[in-house]
Amino acid sequence: TDIEELLLSRIRDVADYPEPGVMFKDITPLLADPAAFTALTDALAEIAANTGATKVVGLEARGFILGAPVAVRAGLGFIPVRKAGKLPGATLGQTYDLEYGSAEIEVHAEDLFADDRILIVDDVLATGGTAEAAIQLIRRAGAEVAGLAILMELGFLGGRARLEPALTGAPLEAL
Ligand code: 5GP
Repeated sequence: TDIEELLLSRIRDVADYPEPGVMFKDITPLLADPAAFTALTDALAEIAANTGATKVVGLEARGFILGAPVAVRAGLGFIPVRKAGKLPGATLGQTYDLEYGSAEIEVHAEDLFADDRILIVDDVLATGGTAEAAIQLIRRAGAEVAGLAILMELGFLGGRARLEPALTGAPLEAL
């Protein structure tokens, strides 16, 4: 579609970043283009409306850049899920495995309510490890996952298949 072409045309491939052999998808050209950034925000906000989300969760750091305008556009609250140690209040944490070692994400538990339906927003879905941890974190905080909305899915890394059990029927929309 037109929007897919517009968005794809504004994502830059950077070879061997952050390490040799990786082709990094750089979204900064898209952010710098107001037409593309607006089209992306509108498309993600439509997903938020369609899923009946009550709040948007953005995953640090590019999920903040995309998720915050989506929340405003859709008339919803925004909740940052941050890397461990960055949030000042009482947090819930979730660790997950990386290729080497592990990582942890955290959320302010008091910002999530039992009747919340959360749309998770991030820029790129790769192996799905980050999104899977976010889903677990939101559920443990007592809220429901309305869906996962992503700018770009790297299909060859199998993230969608990995996330299927965790999503339990909630939609995974990749633009
Ligand atoms: P995963 O946990 O699915 O393996 O990795 C996804 C996370 O890493 C997302 O938060 C995403 O921002 C980041 N990420 C992984 N690969 C890329 C990439 O090629 N481009 C960008 N922009 N982010 C990436």
